[in-house]
Amino acid sequence: MIKSIWIGLLDIIFPRNCILCRCYHPATGQDPLCPDCHKKLPLNTPPFCIRCSRHLKDITEESLCPSCRSRPPHFDEAWAMLEYQGPARDLLHRFKFQNKTSVRRTFAALFHAFKEHYVLRFPNAAMVIPVPLHPVRLRERGYNQAALLAACVAQEFNVPLKNDILIRSRPTARQSELAAKDRWTNIKGAFRIKNLDDIVGREIIVVDDILTTTATASEAAKTLKDAGASRVIIISLGLASCESCVITS
Ligand SMILES: [Zn+2]
Ligand SMILES: [Zn+2]
Repeated sequence: MIKSIWIGLLDIIFPRNCILCRCYHPATGQDPLCPDCHKKLPLNTPPFCIRCSRHLKDITEESLCPSCRSRPPHFDEAWAMLEYQGPARDLLHRFKFQNKTSVRRTFAALFHAFKEHYVLRFPNAAMVIPVPLHPVRLRERGYNQAALLAACVAQEFNVPLKNDILIRSRPTARQSELAAKDRWTNIKGAFRIKNLDDIVGREIIVVDDILTTTATASEAAKTLKDAGASRVIIISLGLASCESCVITS
């Protein structure tokens, strides 16, 4: 009784409006999206590129997207729940630039459903690591959105979350402001490992918010593998289509 009065009061003080359409819905107390906006999210669907999970328009024998064919990434596999377009783009923008950290709950729900539907199982994974922000960027934003998602992944797989192993060693220009070909050079050498002993021979899950060219995820995987990791799996909320990732010049 007291609990329901308290929840009612909280509803008045902090109305549960959907962060995309702004409608009121009681379900947004748990997940910041209303059920209608949830249904409109562009889910990433098969056929998948066997390397990065990008939706393939045409099925070929090798089952690789143009990006992975032209520049094979250093990670072993990657999985993303949403195609980065329409309402998914809005959602990720609010998550990254407008302090809407509650989007992690949308991710947790999407990831659970995706993992069960496509039977993602990583029994040998030793840890979950977020793609780190440089400390200067972290101070600007106040939170690392990839770390919030990584916590959900760690909980879902019941694997330890390690925030202090992969470090951003130098600041980089924002990937989103660069052309596809410049993103690969911008991110080169941007990471380092803090504790080598923890990762030698280990299978590691790395979490990021968006994969576009896959340059950042690939560089993180390269850093971990150069330091001795046996396998690197990437998990991300959104994944851009190949039109924005292929290097044309
Ligand atoms: Zn809505
Ligand atoms: Zn691919």
